[in-house]
Amino acid sequence: MNNIDEKIKIGVSACLTGDEVRYNGQAAEDKFLNRDMCHLFDFVKVCPEVGIGLGIPRETIRLVIKPDTGIRLVNHGGTEDFTEKMMHFSMSSADRLEKEKISGFVFKKSSPSCGAFRVKVYNEKGVTQAQSSMGMYAAHIQQRFPWLPIEEDGRLNDPGLRHNFLSRVFAIKYWQDHVETKPSVHALVEFHKVHKYMLMSHSQEGLRKLGQLVANEVKKPIDVLLHEYLVLFTELTSKPAPRSKHVNVLFHLMGYFSDMLDDYDRQETVNIIDKYRRGIIPLILPITRISHYVKKFKIEYLQIQSYLKHPEELGVLNKL
Ligand code: SF4
Repeated sequence: MNNIDEKIKIGVSACLTGDEVRYNGQAAEDKFLNRDMCHLFDFVKVCPEVGIGLGIPRETIRLVIKPDTGIRLVNHGGTEDFTEKMMHFSMSSADRLEKEKISGFVFKKSSPSCGAFRVKVYNEKGVTQAQSSMGMYAAHIQQRFPWLPIEEDGRLNDPGLRHNFLSRVFAIKYWQDHVETKPSVHALVEFHKVHKYMLMSHSQEGLRKLGQLVANEVKKPIDVLLHEYLVLFTELTSKPAPRSKHVNVLFHLMGYFSDMLDDYDRQETVNIIDKYRRGIIPLILPITRISHYVKKFKIEYLQIQSYLKHPEELGVLNKL
């Protein structure tokens, strides 16, 4: 896990930070971003529609599917097509984001430019289609940085999605700082070690496959090895870990110090994990108890685990 005292850069749709850049001249400020996340993250703000030269306020634009040219970004009346401009802007914006080394992106939901999930698509007569899409800018950013954790403002209110997004952002920051800067098998081994229990909470089988990659028995070139690892890591962690897999991880962690506990403390720890399993208490309680023993018994292998490290002020584990 990265040093969480250091601010991490993430891309953000500018209107979510309170900038009045929307089509109606207003902002769409997101409280979680601006009240909680801003203490730990530096926001790299982008408003793609302002970026392509549209004014504030402005006519709304939307995604329209055309039989011959596919999905286009056009004005409401269908008389102006902004697709090419948006493609150019997206390319130069992605170059900037690469230099800035962002570790995640929070997009504004439903926007034909910024929406990351299920953005409405219309036909030329203005009828909503069954098919949905990503906003045109968001789609370009995802294509350019397929490993980048992305989320939308509304979805971040879901505790599981919020926890998963932040865990992935911290992991990518660690990757950028420790693997990307000095690519080596040793750096990859360290990354894998630090994220072992995060990965186990997603898939034990996936953890095994990544472990095989890290072992690199067929001696792949380092760039191929890192690329394959990051693709699989992204795939495995793209969805929140289920409760049952967290429970599995908690018992694994407990296995490191179970013999050092007296009967009462051992049973109490099992009870706490079981209460979490039944949905009676949140994940923060078993994690806090386990972290206490990890410190008390100085279990170095667990002290480095990203799974046990989350900035308390964000309260991500309190509702999970
Ligand atoms: S959703 Fe994106 S394009 Fe629309 S105002 Fe916000 S930042 Fe600008």
